[in-house]
Formats: sequence, structure tokens, C-alpha cells
Amino acid sequence: MGEVVGIPRALLYYHYYPMWKVFFESLGGTVVTSGETTRAVLDAGIKVTVDEACLPIKVFHGHVLALAGKCDYVFVPRLVSVERRAFTCPKFMGLPDMIRCNCRDIPRIIDSCINLSRTTREYIHAVYSTGRMFTGSVLRILAAHNRAKAALARYTRYIESGMTPDEAMAVMGIAPPCDEPAHRAVAAASSLPGASEAVRGSGRVVVGLVGHPYVIYDPFVSMNVIRRLREMGASVVTADMLPAAITEREAARFPKRVFWTLGRRLLGAGFHFLRSGTVHGCLHMRAFTCGPESLIGEILERESARRRDVPFATITVDEHTGEAGVITRLEAFIDVVTRRRKP
Ligand code: SF4
Repeated sequence: MGEVVGIPRALLYYHYYPMWKVFFESLGGTVVTSGETTRAVLDAGIKVTVDEACLPIKVFHGHVLALAGKCDYVFVPRLVSVERRAFTCPKFMGLPDMIRCNCRDIPRIIDSCINLSRTTREYIHAVYSTGRMFTGSVLRILAAHNRAKAALARYTRYIESGMTPDEAMAVMGIAPPCDEPAHRAVAAASSLPGASEAVRGSGRVVVGLVGHPYVIYDPFVSMNVIRRLREMGASVVTADMLPAAITEREAARFPKRVFWTLGRRLLGAGFHFLRSGTVHGCLHMRAFTCGPESLIGEILERESARRRDVPFATITVDEHTGEAGVITRLEAFIDVVTRRRKP
């Protein structure tokens, strides 16, 4: 068994886990992930972070601490930019520093710096220097990178077919252990022909769900929002399930270019849901104290108030959010959406 790399099951794990896993394994490493988010994981994160930190950052700290003693390295990349002329949230940029400062007795951190905002030079350097930790062969690093990119492309296709990250990973055979039986059931369904119908469901109503991936896809953080909506008879479409061309085109309606990659995607998805007539309701689930989302949420609320044809609701989550309150709000939202649904 090669070096063991731990990947925290939080933040951009939901976008990039297949790519990271294939990269490290192609270099001879073994990948482990932290378990699912639980109250204990969150509490561990809360203990070492400042009160003002957003919920996903606290959860991430908890996942890093959960990997202590289970791996040789923990992968905490410094994600500055993942595309030209756009940036991630500043908290992603300082993540390795936050983790070093706040978490004691954890494995060595791999803090590859990904910055694609201007050129690919830094990215190539990051891939190479990370690969060099496992092998001296440039060709092997290049092959691992190509395999990783292919895995990401396949994963993205599954997500765009209507699967959640857990479901897509299950179909690809790379899902970490999961405590949520419903995920397994849907994942099994999604391997059947016509998968996208199976996983999107054929609900009475279609709900466009806007929210950061590490909020809406994390069963604990989101209080199982996707599963609950499906159980209430709704089909769910998220921003990640929309082709990038749609979210980019819709986000461009806003007079000023949103320079946060995820924020722009959420804004584009929200505009699409509110304007296209493809969903019956639009739900925004946001993390308390999230700067980018307070802006995106405000823009979407104004757009919804102006148009008035698609019911829009916001649910804010933080470490004190109670499950009962979320369920009540979801039930009320689905009730309104179902009644307003045009025949
Ligand atoms: S975008 Fe918001 S929720 Fe995400 S890490 Fe930044 S502040 Fe936290």
C-alpha cells in the first residue's frame, strides 16, 4: 500500500473528489475519506474555529480532524481560481493556513495551489509538484492527470444527467462508504437504463434547488433536503445539473459580472429557474454568514418579487438549525408550489 491520502468529505469534495481520487491512486497512493458529516464532526469543527466562520468551513475543520491517525497526508488544496477571470470564495484561498493554525495533531497537509485565473502555468506547476511527492516520473504524473481529468468529465456528465454527487460516485464505483440507505437505493436505480428519469424522479412538481454543493448535497448540513423534497413528491434540479452554457448565459443577464465561480453558477441557475418556466418552484438553501450568498440571495429575491410567477423561498442553515423547522418550511413550500402549479 502506497502513501495514504485523506480527503475531507466537505467543501469542494462534492465537485472534485473523483478527479482527486483518480489522480492520487494513479500515482500509487491510497485514498481514504472522512465519514459523513455528523453532529460530532460539526462540534469538533466548531471547537477549533471562530464563531464568525460559516457553517461549511466549520464542517470542513471537523472532517480534517476526523482524518487524524488515518492517513499520511490530508489534502487541503488552496483553490484560488478554477477558471479564467474568476475566483473562489476567499475562504478557499486561505483554507490550508486556517487548517494549520486551528487543527493540532493532524497529518501533513498537501496544499497544492490551484490558480487558473490568468494562465495555466501555476496549475501545471501545482500538478507537477504534487505528483512529485509520489513519483519522480513526469510521464506518470501526466498520465495520472489525464486519467483524473477523464474521471471528472465522466462525473460531470452523470451530474448533468440529474444525479447527485453521491449517486454519480456510486455509479462510477468510487463512492466512499455511505450511511444513508436512500442514497444507495437511488444510486442503484441510477445505474439502470433511463437513469436520469429514475434519479430526477417523476414528481408532481419540479423544484429548482439553488445552493452551494457542500450545503445542499451534505445530508447533515442540508437536513437531507434533496431526499425530503423527493419524498414529498418533487423532482429536484440543482445548478450542477444544468449545463454550464445555461448558467453562464443566464448569469450574464446581471449587469456586473459575478467573479466568484460558484456564486455566478448559482445566480445563473436561479435566473434560469425563475425565468425559463422549467420548474414550479425555486428554493435557495444558504449558509448563515456566507458573504457571496447574501448577495446572490438578494438578487434572486428581487428577481422573484419582480416576476412573481415561480414561488421562491430561502432556507438559511447554521449549526443551530433544527430539523423540525426545516421540514415544516419544506412542507409549506411544496404545498404552495403544488397549489400554484399550472395545470
Ligand atoms: S462561499 Fe460562503 S459558504 Fe462557501 S466557504 Fe465562502 S463564505 Fe463559506
